[in-house]
Amino acid sequence: MPKLDPTSDEFRAAGHKLIDWIGDYLDGVDRYDVLSRVQPGDIEKQFPAAPSVDGRPYDALLAEVDAKIIPGVTHWNHPAFFAYFSITGSQAGILAELLTAALNLNGMIWRTSPSLTELETVTLRWLRDALGLPSGLFGIINDTASINSFLALAAAREYVAPEIRTRGFAAAPPLRVYCSEHAHSSIEKGALALGFGIDGVVKIAGDDRFAMSVDALEEAIARDRAAGKVPCAISATVGTTSSAAIDPVKRIAEIARRENVWLHVDAAYAGPATICPEFRWLWEGIEAADSIVINPHKWLFTPIDCSVLYTRKPDVLRETFSLVPEYLKTTDSAEVNFMDYGLQLGHRFRALKLWYLFEHYGIERLQKVIRQHIADAARLAAELQKRDDVELIAPQSLSVVVFRKIVRSSNNEIDEAASERASVEALERMNASGRLFVSHTRLRGRYGIRVAIGNGATEWEHVARVLEYL
Ligand SMILES: *Cc1c(COP(=O)(O)O)cnc(C)c1O
Repeated sequence: MPKLDPTSDEFRAAGHKLIDWIGDYLDGVDRYDVLSRVQPGDIEKQFPAAPSVDGRPYDALLAEVDAKIIPGVTHWNHPAFFAYFSITGSQAGILAELLTAALNLNGMIWRTSPSLTELETVTLRWLRDALGLPSGLFGIINDTASINSFLALAAAREYVAPEIRTRGFAAAPPLRVYCSEHAHSSIEKGALALGFGIDGVVKIAGDDRFAMSVDALEEAIARDRAAGKVPCAISATVGTTSSAAIDPVKRIAEIARRENVWLHVDAAYAGPATICPEFRWLWEGIEAADSIVINPHKWLFTPIDCSVLYTRKPDVLRETFSLVPEYLKTTDSAEVNFMDYGLQLGHRFRALKLWYLFEHYGIERLQKVIRQHIADAARLAAELQKRDDVELIAPQSLSVVVFRKIVRSSNNEIDEAASERASVEALERMNASGRLFVSHTRLRGRYGIRVAIGNGATEWEHVARVLEYL
């Protein structure tokens, strides 16, 4: 009988070389242009129409990775990657990911790998406590915040209108989901996929700091109630994508409680900052949150993917998705079957990455790196504010700085169009240099260059590159 892998000899030899390759790559990533310079199709056309018939040695593949794939890589591992939110890996995370693939577990139910389910429970308890979140939260790891927010909105629907589970949306009153105009698009996408409809998502205006206006939220809910709509969920954002603005969770929570709607908190990016006690204020009011999403793959040095969903109502989440008949449910065991808490049956062993991360680095080292990111962002903001041709278009928050170049006309007023052109040009100069990568956003109509710091290898000299191109 032919076996796919007759022995592990080739694997061992190639594996050692691959680890060395990764070590060299990580040590030398600053050599590369952050942003890939290839044109659309450049990568595709290098590859043949069909794969090998008789197979090729691993060495040949690694040589092609260097020659054909690396040129089309935008280096998320680069210490001067400041675009979007950095997906921050780490050496511990890479090793754990390798081991995850080797073990190849599928934790759909407890018995398909008790270690997977139980290590996920342990590491999510550690994470909860390390971030100062309330005890009693149930946690599950999924791939992305988008999926986790989708699951949370599904639970909200179950909580407010359980008849939908049996009879579908046609049987239901028109439900409403509220989020700020600065909320991540995943909230709206999740609501769309769940059948709330575009009209079912009510965007609440932001205040002058881009946080959700509580007065506007109250007005919107009252207006909807009067019109026969049924408020279902409020999604607050702790750390918006554009400017890391913090919605006032405590005041929003009071409204959620009074209205008896589900409170979801999207802290995909900012959640990890609370590993430092001085940022725990971000969680003010969090005890009332029904669900919270945090992405270790965004700012906790975990290679993508790893997104955590916490809920204090795991029973509702299970009722939303579980298809196990009630009479088969056990009451005498603490067994958790992850398949009951979401759409997917399969469940990767992502908890191994969190375990490696916490145990290898320790909480203190993680705190120090995150603190440094925030300090570097504050320093960048201070440097920018010293210049009279630059202004911050949002208050610096956590590790995010958003600014623009300003150009004044002869009467000393800001020329909006010229300012935008100068800002676009500055951004293009930065990204064309290959030495850093920043992205942009638009706030109150103003185009801004957005710098988000989050890579474990970033030092001030990388952040300072922003200043060189102004
Ligand atoms: C990035 C981001 C998301 C989406 O994260 P994915 O894991 O890529 O789905 C959601 N919410 C906020 C606030 C984000 O910053």
